[in-house]
Order: sequence, then C-alpha cells, then structure tokens
Amino acid sequence: MIRMDKMDKVIKIDKVLKQVTVEAGILLSQLNEVLHRNGMALSNIGAISDVAAGGVIGTGTHNTGITHGILATQVVALTMMTASGEILECSESVNADIFQAARLHLGSLGVLLTVTLQCRAAFHLQEIQQSSTLQEVLDNLDKHLNSSEYFRFFWFPHTDSVSVFYQDPTDKPPSSKASWFWDCLVGYYLLELLLWISIFIPRLVPGINRFFFWLLFSGRSDRVDISHKVFNFDCLFKQHVQDWAIPIGKTKEALTQLKSWLERNPQVVAHFPVEVRFTKGDDILLSPCYQRDSCYMNIIMYRPYGKDVPHQDYWSEYENIMKRVEGRPHWAKAHTCTRKDFEKMYPAFGKFKNIREKLDPTGMFLNAYLEKVFY
Ligand SMILES: Cc1cc2nc3c(=O)[nH]c(=O)nc-3n(C[C@H](O)[C@H](O)[C@H](O)COP(=O)(O)OP(=O)(O)OC[C@H]3O[C@@H](n4cnc5c(N)ncnc54)[C@H](O)[C@@H]3O)c2cc1C
Repeated sequence: MIRMDKMDKVIKIDKVLKQVTVEAGILLSQLNEVLHRNGMALSNIGAISDVAAGGVIGTGTHNTGITHGILATQVVALTMMTASGEILECSESVNADIFQAARLHLGSLGVLLTVTLQCRAAFHLQEIQQSSTLQEVLDNLDKHLNSSEYFRFFWFPHTDSVSVFYQDPTDKPPSSKASWFWDCLVGYYLLELLLWISIFIPRLVPGINRFFFWLLFSGRSDRVDISHKVFNFDCLFKQHVQDWAIPIGKTKEALTQLKSWLERNPQVVAHFPVEVRFTKGDDILLSPCYQRDSCYMNIIMYRPYGKDVPHQDYWSEYENIMKRVEGRPHWAKAHTCTRKDFEKMYPAFGKFKNIREKLDPTGMFLNAYLEKVFY
C-alpha cells in the first residue's frame, strides 16, 4: 500500500486557462480553499471533500447536472508512474488511449502523481428544495433537467413523496440555512435511534420515511453559499450503498419497477432516500457513463450505531432491475458483478484490459477485488 497524504501540493495555477495542477494526494477540501482564494472553483464535486484528487478519479466519483460529466471529465492531463518506474504524461494529445483509461483507473494502472483539472470562475450556488411526487417528477423529467444546472431528487421509498433540489449559480451573497441545529439534532440522534429500533420492528420503516419527509423535506427551502459548500452535504452515519448508472431514458422504467416491487413485497423495507442524479456521457473507458447520458440511482440502508441491517433481498432485486435496464455499477459502491458482467456492460472493457496488461505485465497493481474485475 502507498500513502499519498504527503503528496498534497498545488503545483501550478493557470488563471487564464482556469486550470490547476496538483499532486494526486491533495484532498478536495484543501483544493477547494486554494481555488477559492484564487477566484476559481471545481465545476462539480460529490457529497464529500475528504477525498483525494487521485482517489475520486480512481472510482468514477460523480455528482449531478446533465451538462456535467463525472468528476474525471474535469481532468485535462495527468502524470503516472507505471510498474516499470517510468513516468508517463497523458492528455487528449499525449498517450491519448492511456489517458482515457487513467481517468478512471481503479488504482490498477500505476501510481498517479499529478492531476491537472479544468476549473471555472468561483461561483455561488443557490439551492431551492421543494416537495413533489414521484409521478410528477418522472412525467416531467425533461422539464426538471432543463430547469436547473444541477438538478437531483430524493425519493422516499414506501411513499409517493419526492424532494426536488435545484442548484444554480447566482450573484446573491451567502445566506445560511437557519435550521442547521434542528437538522443535526434530528438527523444524527432521532433518525439513528428510530432506525436502530426498526431493526427489531421493521414495519416501522415506512412510517419513519414518511415522518422525516414531513419533518425535513415537505416545505420549501432556499439557501445560497459558496459552490463547494452546497455540493457537499452531511451523509450522517454509516450506511450500505449501491449506485448504478443507467441510460437516462430508462429512469422512469427503473424507478417504477423498484416502487412496484417494494409494494408487492411489504416484508422488505428500504431506508430513505433513493437519491437520483444525472450525468453527461463521456469517453472514459471504464466510466459508468461511457458514451451515454446517465441517471444514477443511489439506494441506501443505514447502519445505526454501526449495526448491520438486513438488506440482501432489497439489494438483489435492485441489481436485477439495474441489469434489466442496462445499468453499470458505481466502482466505489457495493455490487456483485464480475468480469463476465463488465465485458457485457463496457464496450471498451477489452481495450482497458490490454492497456492495463501492457503497463503492468506482472500484476504489481492487482489485488483481490481487481482479480474479480479482470479475470
Ligand atoms: C460519505 C461518502 C460520500 C460519498 N459521496 C459520493 C458521491 O456523492 N458521489 C460519488 O460518486 N461517490 C461518492 N462516494 C464515493 C467516493 O467518492 C469514492 O469512494 C472515492 O474513490 C473516494 O476517494 P478517496 O480519495 O478516499 O479514494 P481511495 O478510496 O483512497 O481510492 C480510490 C481508488 O483509487 C486508488 N488510488 C487513490 N489514489 C491513487 C493514486 N494517487 N494513484 C493510483 N491509484 C490511486 C485506490 O487504490 C483505490 O483503488 C462517497 C463516499 C463516502 C464515504
């Protein structure tokens, strides 16, 4: 294992091109601050910033916004040390094939040393959250997608309720959310306690989902803050997650199937939220959004006080549905896929594997997980 924590320097800031070159171990939380001081920002980041530049592109981290790709699409160049000790420079024009592999590398190609990211001018985001129903959102998906640069929604399983989030650049000054104290108290303590009780009385879960929707999401809220503070949000406590990318045109079919299956199987319970996000297609060989605009459907089962909750039936039916609609699993989250599945899912799987084997002929960068992926 190699620790990259100390490779956390900002090497170059190009204010004209709005690009930054960093060592691959830098955390996004550090980078966000440096960029902000220089009047720049990343155009999109995921829910957390305690992740490294080399790490987020290792697994295809994404957020939402149908004009935005996964985070790795912001990478314009990188350098990587291969198994032979050679340092390769890669970009669209130099080692272009390796570049399209290394932008989602699974840690399997070499050690990323530096990453150059395309940024944009620093911006504030206004987040408007409002309630709706699953039917309304699915019937008017294009309208919602066109109404906001970073649109996503939460569906509350066992209910018809949805919370819609529009996030858009604004010139307005920051205005903090007044209810943070209640959000923390309710989020951390009450939710965790109720979910722990529901391990023994699972039929409480639909009521818990309805209660938290009513308490926290049934109204309308509006806030403005620096972009990265709005992109990031509190993921509360430990959880199991699956998050597959499906062709965007299959969003309605997949969510409707999951909802009906839960209705037909009331013994299976599903925690809130199912988080639904949208991402532009790309040309990164192992990107779940490879050559197609996608919808990510993230399901969750919390682990209150670290305790495991039964979720196998929910997990396997979700996977069945995702496979039926040509889904591809998030590389950093749970799935049961192996090489045979990936060969079917990824048109460029063979190309990635060839590049990997040329760069690492003795398997220096393989591990038990990667053996399952590639062999
Ligand atoms: C609370 C939480 C919230 C999350 N929210 C989101 C979200 O909103 N969207 C989303 O898509 N994902 C999300 N994730 C998943 C997360 O983005 C990924 O797990 C991401 O890979 C974590 O980055 P890391 O720096 O910790 O990577 P690591 O786990 O350290 O590394 C990821 C992979 O990259 C390899 N690697 C790391 N650095 C290098 C390097 N320099 N050279 C070569 N290989 C390297 C590692 O070996 C590993 O294979 C979330 C995870 C958590 C825990």
